[in-house]
Amino acid sequence: MQERPLFQVIDGALSGATQIPSPNFNQRPDDAAIQLVVIHNISLPPSQFGGGYIQQFFQNKLDWSEHPYFQTIEGMQVSAHLLILRTGEVIQFVNFKDRAWHAGRSSYLGKKECNDYSIGIELEGSDDLPFEEIQYEKLAEVVATLQLAYPKIQQHLAGHSDIAPGRKTDPGRFFDWIKFRTRLQQLKNQ
Ligand SMILES: [Zn+2]
Repeated sequence: MQERPLFQVIDGALSGATQIPSPNFNQRPDDAAIQLVVIHNISLPPSQFGGGYIQQFFQNKLDWSEHPYFQTIEGMQVSAHLLILRTGEVIQFVNFKDRAWHAGRSSYLGKKECNDYSIGIELEGSDDLPFEEIQYEKLAEVVATLQLAYPKIQQHLAGHSDIAPGRKTDPGRFFDWIKFRTRLQQLKNQ
């Protein structure tokens, strides 16, 4: 018997994810079909996990005075569609139909402004530390689900560093693309 899928896209929302709406989004251009997944890492403060600061940051509710690092990002308004915590919890901040603010100045296969046509997924992590197994598992499950909902994504998975080289380094050298792609393929073959 087929197991019920853990995640499902319903009207641009990911069921199975915790919903924490971010105000940092706008409309995708009319002609922009979703065709790319961009993988990032983030931790606040850098390389420290837990604490809920990323969630606060994406909601414009971070208290900039709580840590010296926060002052270096004060006032920034950013978001991603999804965040996968170290615990494996998946949080959605922006509906997939909307344009999240994660990529910045970027280009993929000659096409600029990746935010217009991509889904941004943040892994709670850093360039200097390995990711958790459960994060690979959840990422593969989520991306398999997204590829069913948005077939144009199929082969188009990139890191932030791939679409903004020289400017961005995430998801970093510890992100194991082979492990992720292998698990994704296994899920798709089931
Ligand atoms: Zn990034």
